[in-house]
Amino acid sequence: MPDPLTPEQRHRCMSHIRSRNTKPELKVRQWLWQRGYRYRLNVKSVPGKPDVVLRRYRTAIFVNGCFWHGHSGCDKFRMPKSNVDFWQAKINRNRERDQLNYQILLQNGWQVIVVWECQLTPARFEQTMWEVELRLNQNFLSIYKPKTYATPTDEPLPIAAESRSAYGKREK
Ligand SMILES: [Zn+2]
Repeated sequence: MPDPLTPEQRHRCMSHIRSRNTKPELKVRQWLWQRGYRYRLNVKSVPGKPDVVLRRYRTAIFVNGCFWHGHSGCDKFRMPKSNVDFWQAKINRNRERDQLNYQILLQNGWQVIVVWECQLTPARFEQTMWEVELRLNQNFLSIYKPKTYATPTDEPLPIAAESRSAYGKREK
């Protein structure tokens, strides 16, 4: 199918998609906020200016558009039919830059969560966010190693004992 947009229109469209405060990003932030997570946005001092920064969890979240960040194997990632070389080169650069940013963050003790736009469709949103929350909690525990709680297993657990005859055997 030919690209219905002229190269100029395409460029404007893509520039728009790239802007901050994109809808997918908002969905993620709103969900986190409602669950009580507090964060900062686009923190410049953190490599790659992650979309959401949760310092307590030492976690950076990137909400990546599937096209701009080149989500491989994704339905939403379709190369425009015009200026293919241009877009391919641009997306490759974005990919490389993303990987570099993730590496720098990891080397500095940050955890990185990448959420793809296609994981935020109504059908997948909840599942995606539960996974994000699970990761956040894992990250939190890895930083603040909890003291071992005394567990009741130090003492023998009371076992409910019943006579065998209670099961299936008729009392005589
Ligand atoms: Zn995708």
